[in-house]
Parts: sequence; C-alpha cells; structure tokens
Amino acid sequence: MARIFCVANQKGGVGKTTTTVNLAAGLAKVGQRVLMVDLDPQGNATMGSGVEKRKLALTVYDVLLESSSVAQARVRSEKCGYDVLGANRELAGAEVELVEVERRDQRLKTALAQSAAEYDFILIDCPPSLSMLTLNGLCSAHGVIVPMQCEYFALEGLTDLVNTIKQVHANMNKDLQIIGLLRVMFDPRITLQQQVSDQLKAHFAAKVFDTVIPRNVRLAEAPSYGLPGVVFDPAARGSQAYVEFAREMVERIKKM
Ligand code: ATP
Ligand code: MG
Repeated sequence: MARIFCVANQKGGVGKTTTTVNLAAGLAKVGQRVLMVDLDPQGNATMGSGVEKRKLALTVYDVLLESSSVAQARVRSEKCGYDVLGANRELAGAEVELVEVERRDQRLKTALAQSAAEYDFILIDCPPSLSMLTLNGLCSAHGVIVPMQCEYFALEGLTDLVNTIKQVHANMNKDLQIIGLLRVMFDPRITLQQQVSDQLKAHFAAKVFDTVIPRNVRLAEAPSYGLPGVVFDPAARGSQAYVEFAREMVERIKKM
C-alpha cells in the first residue's frame, strides 16, 4: 500500500513544487513506484513533470468532483519515471464547487484509496494556502513534508501550519503527522541561515530531515525544460541532494 505524503507550506515560493517533483523523480530512480498529485491550480508540478496542463482531458479537478477515477485521469511521465495526476486552472473552481457537496474534505482520500495498491509513494503538491484543496491533501495523507527556507520569519509561519495539522489530526485524520521539515535553498555561507537551521534543530529535533537541499540554479532551470532537476541534470548538487532525500524517505517509512 502506498504511503501518502503532502508537500505543504502555506507560504508561497518556498520550494514545495521543486521538492515534490524532485522527490518523485528521486524515488523513481531508487526503484519506487510513484504517483505525483498536483493539487495546485497553478499546475507547476504538472508542467514540471513534462505534462502539458492545457491539453489534459481529465485532471485532479474531475477526480475531486467524482466525475473521474484516479486510474482514468492519471498520465505517465515516461521521462520522469512516475505517474502524474495533473492540474490546471480549472481546479481553482473546485474550491467553490466543493462547498456544496458531501464529504467535501474527503474526496481525494476516497479516490486515492482505489489506486493506492499500485504505488509505493503518493506525493501531493499543495497550493500556497490553507484552503479546501490543501485540506483535501491533509485528509488523504499519512504525513506532511514541510519545505522551508532558513530565513528570519520561517519559524513564525510554521506555527499556523503546525496548528492546522494538529486540528486535522484531532478532528479528521488520525494518521496525519509531520514527517519532517526539509531545509531547502540552503546557503551555508550565510550566517543567518546557519543560525535558523540550528534553531530548527533545537526546536524540532528529529523532525528535521538530515538531508539539506542547497540553493542550486540547475534546480531552477529544470522546469523550463519540463523536467525535475534530478532528470534534467542528475550530476548537479541540488539533484544529488534530492536523490539523497529520496533515500532518507525510504528509510523513514520503514520506521513508520
Ligand atoms: P508556490 O507557493 O507558488 O507553489 P513553491 O513553494 O511551490 O511555490 P517552487 O515553485 O518550488 O516553490 O520554488 C520557487 C522558486 O524557487 C522557483 O523559481 C524554483 O525554481 C526556485 N527554487 C526552488 N528550490 C530551489 C533551489 N534549491 N535552488 C535554487 N532555486 C530553487
Ligand atoms: Mg508550487
């Protein structure tokens, strides 16, 4: 049965999508069967996996509204080595349409359950908000991976996310836990980043992943080629770090 993880942080531009697609590609590289779910109307994870979001006949939107199954809507990204349940702008409408329906926060969970046996990992790229879409992600998942930059306000923003996760855990999804905080876009030459990193370790201890993702321009260039960095330039430092992170995740789930 697949282990399901949300990549979430309500702060924008912190590296959620980069983490989702590169972790998916890294896991595929070490032999895991992966489904990547794009839960963001921006569709960046879809495009970043080489899938043209505007040409998709079915997306996660249709799955949330129960007019399609995951098996019908997913597509294979051959180059990346994983399956993609894509998203595009249409998904923005789901937020409003779901208000009317029953079990509106459980839609994704129910749909993923039907395909879970086919995968080792399902990774969900969440939008930069604590919306109904993110809630569907959190209700489906066993755990949350939180990418964060080691900046001054990073810890402050974390409080809202931690509280939301606690509430979902208490009321909607007992399985849910924070798997870990992933330090991304890290530059060890910047003293402040080193200090915030130390603070994170002091506060969250084992919840901070060992792997650190460096700031690396190859990771930022890769999406314009419709590829995760891990596939676009496997030798790049950032790509190697994400493959290392994939190995760390494989080890972590053995202990879950
Ligand atoms: P949003 O909240 O809009 O969904 P996000 O949290 O998904 O954003 P990304 O899109 O992954 O964030 O990253 C934001 C920007 O930072 C992108 O331009 C991306 O290419 C760049 N980036 C991410 N990680 C790295 C890294 N390790 N090194 C260099 N650039 C990076
Ligand atoms: Mg994103």
